[in-house]
Amino acid sequence: MGALLEVRNLKYKTEEDKEILKGVNLDVKKGEIHVILGPNGAGKSTLANLIAGSGGYEKPSEGEIIFDGKNINGKPLHERARLGLTIAFQEPARFEGITVEEYLKLSARNNPSADIEACLRKVGLEPKEYLKRFLDDSLSGGERKRIELASIMCMKPKLAILDEIDSGIDFVSIDEIGNLFKTMREEGTTLLVITHRENLALIADRASLMCNGTIVETGDPERVIRKFEKECLICEVHNPELVKGLKQ
Ligand code: ADP
Ligand code: MG
Repeated sequence: MGALLEVRNLKYKTEEDKEILKGVNLDVKKGEIHVILGPNGAGKSTLANLIAGSGGYEKPSEGEIIFDGKNINGKPLHERARLGLTIAFQEPARFEGITVEEYLKLSARNNPSADIEACLRKVGLEPKEYLKRFLDDSLSGGERKRIELASIMCMKPKLAILDEIDSGIDFVSIDEIGNLFKTMREEGTTLLVITHRENLALIADRASLMCNGTIVETGDPERVIRKFEKECLICEVHNPELVKGLKQ
């Protein structure tokens, strides 16, 4: 299978000239679940935003992003969305005054075959109970996260980037999230899943390890997890206190 997403030598500097990405290379194959594992501050969210064009990150300092054969570098978020690329974040969307049904219909606007009720059931929510609810604080964090995943299922993008959506989930287990990811993959969505949780990386077809602004390894998830455990958890850049303690 060919690459759906190719990131070539991607660099990103802040306005203060701080180098956040130092030449990232990454291939995501069509149809795979690809996990990016890495410690806090490695640059994972910066990379995710540059790929999706979200969060005000439209253009890298250097490098190329090829999605589905097209160079999408510098294209605005909505154009990338139209090409079939979507991103979800740790904190799910809140839209005051919009019902779950309206939100899911909006998500499904480019996918006429979407079955909104079926999408809700797949994430464990009974449509009768949820369609008329408002997407606000009356829903728990876990429910909003499930609805966000249902919205991606309704959208059926070619590529979904999920940035730490597993963080802060209390009552959606890792196993269940893994199964939801697999359902999405079966329905034709390629997944780029960003996490710092090793056990979530286990469900990946391939994994990449991101460290200090670059991808240092891509391949078999178990090997990547071992490298993460051996090298990142005791890395001086990301865990200086621990390393100082170990040296004493
Ligand atoms: P991760 O998602 O892997 O935790 P991030 O991509 O959020 O990492 O951040 C990587 C590093 O870049 C962090 O040290 C963060 O503080 C820094 N950073 C990100 N965006 C900016 C910015 N706009 N200005 C300054 N520093 C930034
Ligand atoms: Mg992050």
